[in-house]
Amino acid sequence: MSGVRGWCPGALRPMESGDGWITRIRPHGGRLSPSQAAGIANAARDHGNGLIDLTGRANLQIRGVTPDSHAPLIEALRALDLIDADIEAEQRRNIIVTPFADPETDGLAAKLEAALTASALPLPAKFGFAVDTGPAPVLWDIPADIRLERGADGRLILRADGCPHGAPCHSAAEALTLAGWFLAAGGAPEGRGRMAGLIARGTPPADAILTPAPALPTPVPGPVPQGMLVGLEFGQIEAEILAALAALGPLRMTPWRMLLIEGAGRVPALPGLIAEPDDPRLRLRSCTGAPGCRHAHAPTRALARQLAPHLPKGRVLHVSGCAKGCGWPRAADLTLTATPEGFDLIRGGCASDIPQPRGLPPARLPEVL
Ligand code: SF4
Repeated sequence: MSGVRGWCPGALRPMESGDGWITRIRPHGGRLSPSQAAGIANAARDHGNGLIDLTGRANLQIRGVTPDSHAPLIEALRALDLIDADIEAEQRRNIIVTPFADPETDGLAAKLEAALTASALPLPAKFGFAVDTGPAPVLWDIPADIRLERGADGRLILRADGCPHGAPCHSAAEALTLAGWFLAAGGAPEGRGRMAGLIARGTPPADAILTPAPALPTPVPGPVPQGMLVGLEFGQIEAEILAALAALGPLRMTPWRMLLIEGAGRVPALPGLIAEPDDPRLRLRSCTGAPGCRHAHAPTRALARQLAPHLPKGRVLHVSGCAKGCGWPRAADLTLTATPEGFDLIRGGCASDIPQPRGLPPARLPEVL
């Protein structure tokens, strides 16, 4: 099948970054068994630089992979059942699953994965699905074109992104029918387009009459009925720490830079883990910076850590090694972009937006914040 247009990085098609190749893993159903998580930790140590990102779509990325280490890495991940048959299947399997999944949710996610893997629908590269059928929707602000959710009466509904109502749903296969409707209705001319754009231009899909259940706010680190949610500083975890978490139980991925450790009652204090909901490090964003990235004009993460206590309550701080802004490609309350002359400050913008003031020395930054 070659109908999928554009591309997204994956495991089979890594992406180049300042510190080597990034190899992205899509855990099946958004969950890793303890042996899979421990295997990823080993693979990241053996074939990458030992750093693993948790992405905004609840995927993992092994960093620092090289042209020589990529093939053995893929073999190690294949043995853990984490590699798809080919690049197209990997790209189509773009599903995010609520970490608060019940057995019905797990079953729906598995059936949707199987249907998408077998499908020949020429969906755009970034076209994605959300299985958000836990006790209440939590993925409301995470991009997804087709959403399986609970209706206000607890029934399963299928909702096109951008449409306030969903249709009654009886099986995961109906999500593919809706994806087929999207294509037939002209949602992806020239292979590009998103569901919300199509809905904004015209008629909603048939039977979209049911109201979704009220959404819950984004969770914070701490105990939850399924176990313990733990935050990751900068959305990243070292292989040793991932191995330590794997020993505590199965892991559920989240899109909020947190992992859910199933069945855990407590988590030991480990470097880079955030256990408290009011920890200011939850509001830090930063790329690799120097010396890991050759494009960086300064170290970023140590500086962000130093500035965390000075960060006004509720504000998000992004420290970027250059104007590319890989660590947070959106606006933040405060962005510090490193330049050869010092740090530029951008308020309410991205790393490449117009700064005021420019060229600040690191020593002045606490006072400026
Ligand atoms: S923002 Fe610049 S310095 Fe940071 S990782 Fe991207 S390219 Fe490197």
